[in-house]
Amino acid sequence: MTPPVNEQRLEMRGISMEFPGVKALDDVHFSVKRGEIHALVGANGAGKSTLMKVLAGAYASYEGTILFDGVPLAIDSPNAAKRAGIEIVYQEVDTALVDYLTVAENICLDMLASGQLKGVIRRRRYEEIAERALQKLKASIDVRQRVSELRLAEKQLVLIARALVQESRFLILDEPTAPLSGRETEQLFRIIRELAEKEHLGVIFISHRLQELFEICESISVMRDGKMVSRQLLAGQTKETVVEQMLGRRLQKSSREARPAGAPSLELDRITVAGQLDEISLTVRAGEVIGIAGLVGAGKTELCKTIFGSIPVTSGLMRLAGETRRIRSAYDAVRLGIGLVPEERRKEGILVADPIEQNMTAASLKQFVNRFGFVEKKKERAAANRIVQQLSIKVSDTRQRAAELSGGNQQKVAIGKWLLADASVLVLDEPTKGVDVGAKAEIFQVIDQLAAEQKAVIYASSELDELLAVTDRIYVMYDGQIVFEATTSETTEEQLLWYATGGQQHE
Ligand code: ADP
Ligand code: MG
Repeated sequence: MTPPVNEQRLEMRGISMEFPGVKALDDVHFSVKRGEIHALVGANGAGKSTLMKVLAGAYASYEGTILFDGVPLAIDSPNAAKRAGIEIVYQEVDTALVDYLTVAENICLDMLASGQLKGVIRRRRYEEIAERALQKLKASIDVRQRVSELRLAEKQLVLIARALVQESRFLILDEPTAPLSGRETEQLFRIIRELAEKEHLGVIFISHRLQELFEICESISVMRDGKMVSRQLLAGQTKETVVEQMLGRRLQKSSREARPAGAPSLELDRITVAGQLDEISLTVRAGEVIGIAGLVGAGKTELCKTIFGSIPVTSGLMRLAGETRRIRSAYDAVRLGIGLVPEERRKEGILVADPIEQNMTAASLKQFVNRFGFVEKKKERAAANRIVQQLSIKVSDTRQRAAELSGGNQQKVAIGKWLLADASVLVLDEPTKGVDVGAKAEIFQVIDQLAAEQKAVIYASSELDELLAVTDRIYVMYDGQIVFEATTSETTEEQLLWYATGGQQHE
């Protein structure tokens, strides 16, 4: 192709957008060229996803203009965006895929839906198309497999393949590396570079991992509070200057008083899991909430699972209430009073197809089984209702299936389960993921309540502002290690972000 292709620019001018009570975007200017890999960063809630959703046609009610090559585009629906060659891979990978369809059907979803693929040989055709797209990504995924059987990283590749078959000119990736391992991330980067070079694909890359932005992007836009703060080349920037722009100021130190803590409930002493965790030592006391900060991939989930006995320890010791214990399975953990609310709530935390009351009693079933081995339904229901009251779970009847609850209420059920089991140590892995702001506040209240009842709470999250709001002390993880520890009232988001993105001790 002739060079001018790479001068074709996608531009957003004066974009504003409001949600009830929130000005999510305020007169934002943004642009990206074909063949360019461009980073879009900002703290949580800065407006990155909303801006990209506007570009992808998810909203019709924004102000401002979108242009391609200087010509205004009417982007008011996902189809209009696709016609303009703009594809997005959303942050919530799962919601973009149809679980019960095959990989091929998901990759060709748009073509199938629009009737572009017709006739008896349809299936062969779209399987071929899907296979070719996956080959381009060097992904060995069986196209006839159902998407529900894939790992998160594979689902991501399916979504990128879907973008490829659309022959997009611009690809938006919203936190694509969040669910990926280091190696999968490297592979994704290779693919992105190749697509940018060979197919002149313009890529907009949203990520919290600053280090990787420096690896793959040539330019960067920084957003803060709904506004665009800067657009620059990455060369000449450092992680620190980017963090400063993201935050705009030194953050206020948290003013919250630390909770009064009792004796150590759980202590880890140089816990190591080969290849995943490296000499993790930490303590959490009764009545205390500790934070495990770190970006996705830092090892938080592995740590949570290790404490819960579902990942075997290579070396190191765990003490519960001062006594050394071996926790070799989730069964051991439950018996010893440790509860886990896992990150993938819908897969591991609760059984959505089951009634709420069964979910609640799942970890304490013994209490509800009579001497003939049957579950005493009345007793079970009474217990479930007690937790519903205690945690203000919005549900009319505990016989309802958990699937009918909102994300926040499902999370409360997952926590309530451990209250019934009388766990003394509660491990919460990204407990606010996928819940709205109101539900977040309620989950924080529940955590306060747990601490007041002298539970020891471990709160793992990549949302630094949440950790600052809810914990007493924070450990920062990076690459399977604890790299920093601070009392919450004495640290800042900037400091945590510095260590979480691989910054070295410098004071
Ligand atoms: P980011 O992706 O940078 O974390 P978002 O674009 O998701 O930020 O959010 C920007 C602001 O808009 C936040 O205050 C967020 O709470 C709000 N917001 C985003 N989506 C919605 C929505 N669907 N309804 C109401 N408010 C929203
Ligand atoms: Mg976002």
